[in-house]
Amino acid sequence: MIFNQVELAPADPILGLTDAFKADPRSDKVNLGVGIYKDESGQTPILKSVKLAEQKLLDNETSKSYLGIDGVQAYNSAVQTLLFGEQHQVLQQQRTVTAQAPGGTGSLRVAAEFVARNTDSNTIWVSNPTWANHNNIFQSAQLQVKQYRYYDAPTHSMDFDAMLADLATAKAGDLVLLHGCCHNPTGIDLNQSQWQTIAELCLQKELVPLFDFAYQGFGDGVEEDAQGLRLVADIVPELIVANSFSKNFGLYNERIGAVTLVAKDQDTAKTAFSQVKSTIRGNYSNPPAHGALIVATILGDNELRAMWEAELQQMRERIAQMRVLFVDTLKSVGVSQDFSFISTQNGMFSFSGLNKAQVERLREEFGIYIVGSGRISVAGMTRDNMPAICHAIAQVV
Ligand code: PMP
Repeated sequence: MIFNQVELAPADPILGLTDAFKADPRSDKVNLGVGIYKDESGQTPILKSVKLAEQKLLDNETSKSYLGIDGVQAYNSAVQTLLFGEQHQVLQQQRTVTAQAPGGTGSLRVAAEFVARNTDSNTIWVSNPTWANHNNIFQSAQLQVKQYRYYDAPTHSMDFDAMLADLATAKAGDLVLLHGCCHNPTGIDLNQSQWQTIAELCLQKELVPLFDFAYQGFGDGVEEDAQGLRLVADIVPELIVANSFSKNFGLYNERIGAVTLVAKDQDTAKTAFSQVKSTIRGNYSNPPAHGALIVATILGDNELRAMWEAELQQMRERIAQMRVLFVDTLKSVGVSQDFSFISTQNGMFSFSGLNKAQVERLREEFGIYIVGSGRISVAGMTRDNMPAICHAIAQVV
């Protein structure tokens, strides 16, 4: 017998919270833990553009035969255009390769395993703080994880000098994980000149950026959110992107994303891609089709694409409104502490600065679930639940 040797794993800091939420009998409980978009009525709807694309697929699909190892070709090229735009040199020079993969997580895992198995590189730098699963993914792929400072808690702002100082100690070939936009959990992104500085640092020290791009379109817009990536790709010879359509297409349970490599030239890209495919083959063989076909259908059809962009804009704007309402409601229920920084953060999350004890009290006394780091999913807030959330926060601060 071997199973008796196994130690109980700690609950996942984010998904474990959802389990606790589900088990909570209180009817007025609110889950602001996991990053799932909710509309004004608290639902996570299927986008209309997605439903229409699915209808088309249902009518026209003729086979459920295997996809290739790298997935749907039309999807992969649509991903490249979405990431880099039509005209980017990395596409024109054909030194970009993309493999469909299961969600952002699967894409990160494939990317990390590909690097660990095929190169001398064995270290990845992640921001402190970062998405809780990054450590787990990279360590599972046998990479050593180091942290660079990113966030200055007292001022609720980016500590860019510290980030530069820490990355200056990285060695050639190290990977640097960068959140393409809507940094999770802080909501604080690099500006254009900071992207430029990071790109030059990577070039000079021969560091390889790995973009985690899970929220394209949730910050300022589809094109706007890709500016950092595109700028870095103009400067460094090599990079990796792991992108996800869980959030911006609402395709959470379809597990759809992609891993994209940009290499210094076409031949290097082709050779590297053969090993990306080998990594996938030894992992899950080939990806599931449905999510990729939905995304390819939408991005390949002018009307559906326009509809998707409008729906994405609606989600983005609703979250922005909730940020403002959150700050205003806190004030109106008498919280004197300044939370105005929340309205300048990007994406689904607000890094509230609430500490562990306050987070615990919110859960135990008020049934309001947020992550231990104080990260609040603004996308789960509505006009209906806002007063209760803010009254509870007023009690614990
Ligand atoms: N990266 C970040 C920063 C995320 O927040 C998430 C989702 N929470 C992912 C990757 C993973 O996305 P997916 O659900 O598509 O695996």
